[in-house]
Parts: sequence; C-alpha cells; structure tokens
Amino acid sequence: MEAKTKVTFFGTEAAIPELGGETASFLINDQVMVDTGWNIVENLRRQGIEPGNIRYLLFTHMHHDHYISLPSFLYYFLITNKDLASLKILGPEEDLQPIMHHALEFLFLNRKFYPTRSYPTIVPLSPGDHYDDELFHLETTSSLHPVQALCYKYTDKETGKSVTFTGDTAYHEPIIDLARGTSLLIHEATYGATPANPLKNGGLHSSAMDAAEIAKAAEVEQLALIHGLRHNNEASVNAAAAIYSGPVMWPEKDQTIYL
Ligand SMILES: [Zn+2]
Ligand SMILES: [Zn+2]
Repeated sequence: MEAKTKVTFFGTEAAIPELGGETASFLINDQVMVDTGWNIVENLRRQGIEPGNIRYLLFTHMHHDHYISLPSFLYYFLITNKDLASLKILGPEEDLQPIMHHALEFLFLNRKFYPTRSYPTIVPLSPGDHYDDELFHLETTSSLHPVQALCYKYTDKETGKSVTFTGDTAYHEPIIDLARGTSLLIHEATYGATPANPLKNGGLHSSAMDAAEIAKAAEVEQLALIHGLRHNNEASVNAAAAIYSGPVMWPEKDQTIYL
C-alpha cells in the first residue's frame, strides 16, 4: 500500500470543551502530538495508541487549553516504566522552558516514588527556526497572539505531503508563505462566521473567513478549521467555502484524514 500521511483530530474546540468534547489537539503519523488538549492520555488510548510511544510533543503556544494535560502525559511514562528520554518536546522558546521546568518539578516532587529519573529533551524554537528528524522536516513562523506562538509546517519525508498548522492566531500574513502549496492547512477559526472585530480582538484570534483568505492566498490543497464552538462549525465551513474554492472541513472528534 502506498504510504500516506495520517492526521487524527482529538478535538477542535477552544478553552472549555463541551461535555465529551476536546480542545484543539491532533496527532500526525501516530507519533507526533500537537498540543495536549485536556485529555491526551485518554485520547491516545481510545485510538489504540500507547501514550509512551509518542516521540514528539509539539506545542503551538503555552495557553492552558493547549497544554493542560501535560502532567498526566508525563506521569504515564513514569507509571508504565517508559523512558521519558525517548520524548522530545518542542515549543515557543519564551514559555516552553519555564513551564516544562515546573511540570517536571511537579512530577518529581515526591522523591520516594521515582528515584531514578529521566527527562524529555526540550527544544525551544523561535519563529523562523527549522527542525529535522529522519522522518519529517519542520519549519516555523510566528503567530499573532498575546503570547509567543508558533505556526508549523510538517513535511513528511516518506510521502512528500505537508501539514501546516497554526496555533491560536489573528489573521497573519506570514502564515501564507509558510503554508504555500501545503497538502493540508489546519487553521484556527475561533470567531466562526463572525468577522474578527479589530477593536475587540484583544485575544488575537481568527474568523473562518480569515482562515479562508490564508488558504486561498497560499493555494493550499485543503483546509481544516479548528478551535471554535461546536455549534458554529457548519456556518464556519460555509463562510470559508465562499472565499476558498478547495475542500473545507471542520473535523469531527477522532476523525482521521489521510494525505
Ligand atoms: Zn486556544
Ligand atoms: Zn491561545
């Protein structure tokens, strides 16, 4: 069978998900996790994926809804005797190290339980940085958000396909260059079909139309919208489709897309 790039969405909501829902977080090729959502361990196990086999955790930014289940994920490695050194954690340099420092301190507070310790590799990134693994290549650019946030382009070296994803961001032109020609653009659309009001956009988020403008200008192959209220999904897809002529979706929880 021809190799495919696989993207599994665990959640597409923002901040507090509805009961049974999950905040924006997804998994690429069963081993690269993007943000944790509220329930990373349960989400992985529900897909039949052993959490301790995750090789990379990529953070778009360090707002709580994007990393809140980090402690339970790290704990899973300890309690299943998985070496935390097999895990690499990448994210925006301004906030990644302090938060990882506290998360690891919290994890190892009770010295009685885990006397031999291993630590994940922490890789702080700045906008414009690249990162290479045997299986993929990452490029980054900035977001427009109140904290330092990164957008990533993941290129699968096996298939040649690429997934470009924003964290949280207001409309931000540099994303067009990053996303140019990408196989799948995953863009936040917090405001749904309501235009972002420049006077009230202190949180710096996007509408579905903002996402569609980026998708159109970057000539991406398909667009997935995330990070919004569930009841807005259909209106968001319709609003984006009026601007961008390629396929648009709001992924379902646990939906897998093959590229
Ligand atoms: Zn968010
Ligand atoms: Zn945010």
